[in-house]
Amino acid sequence: MTDGMLPDSAINAGAAAIREGAVVAFPTETVYGLGANAYDPIAVARVFELKGRPRFDPLIAHVASETQAAELVARIPDSALALMRAFWPGPLTLVLPKSDRVPDLVTAGLATVAVRLPAHPVAHALIERAGVPIAAPSANRFGGISPTTAAHVRAAFGASLRWVLDAGPCPVGVESTVVAVDAETGRCVLLRAGGIALESLRAVRDVDIPSSPLHRIASPGQLDRHYAPSTPLDLLGAAPEPGSNERVGLLAWRRPDSNEGYAAVEILSETGDLREAAAALFAAMHRLDALGLDRIVAIPVPETGLGLAIMDRLRRASHRG
Ligand code: AMP
Ligand code: MG
Repeated sequence: MTDGMLPDSAINAGAAAIREGAVVAFPTETVYGLGANAYDPIAVARVFELKGRPRFDPLIAHVASETQAAELVARIPDSALALMRAFWPGPLTLVLPKSDRVPDLVTAGLATVAVRLPAHPVAHALIERAGVPIAAPSANRFGGISPTTAAHVRAAFGASLRWVLDAGPCPVGVESTVVAVDAETGRCVLLRAGGIALESLRAVRDVDIPSSPLHRIASPGQLDRHYAPSTPLDLLGAAPEPGSNERVGLLAWRRPDSNEGYAAVEILSETGDLREAAAALFAAMHRLDALGLDRIVAIPVPETGLGLAIMDRLRRASHRG
């Protein structure tokens, strides 16, 4: 399937599997998720097991309605409500104080839960028919490149994952923007740049950039090395030009002035459109990573709009040690 939708029977089967405690990979507009019933700690544990993700990394609970979101959280401050109304369904995750219904495993013991209402029709139908919120991280092994196609998911998990709902490539292609909302003050803080640009959020509400390193602990998606290919990746300017006896791949967000000396070139957007570049980013990284290159060099992206999220991913992918 490549048109973003699936037959009812496939979605119904996936929804039944979720209710029975299975792990189901499903498309969202951002990336493919590895989903389980958010109310079933055993099912959620299977997600961690498959993913090889450290237990302290909290998951996003995906919902099909604002009502379902309200079950998961203790309180929705006005500022959070304003952001929900403006950007849901869509690639915005809100971190709010959790209700007692949310198992600790979903939030990694935190008193807050991350909630998102995805816009993808398959994600929406799956959650609605499952009748429960679906806790899901991205459907890749821990620390690897995020999956934007079902083929990426299958390549990562093979036969160990029975359920993969394939509805073609993810239209946004980078993860959701994560905003923490303080329950007392309503203050909004950006925890992760993503599919909704900071400028768009700020047209609705003040959103602060975190100043304290505390947020780095609270939001492990901010691990220094993350979203990384197994081939070493550097930002152009931070790495030497390709030498004659090495095979270097170039990851360019727009058509580069020169690509001389590179063994492979991926151009994310011919016209330098950042939305198009974001949607193409992870698939291009997967392709370069599969070539057995000595290293990959990425051209830095202007940090406006979705460029902020793209650069965030590139910096983490290039982090060593
Ligand atoms: P992923 O599932 O790969 O899209 O990553 C989920 C993101 O949400 C990561 O950056 C997590 O650290 C972040 N996150 C999830 N729950 C919380 C929470 N309760 N507090 C802070 N950050 C969270
Ligand atoms: Mg992830």
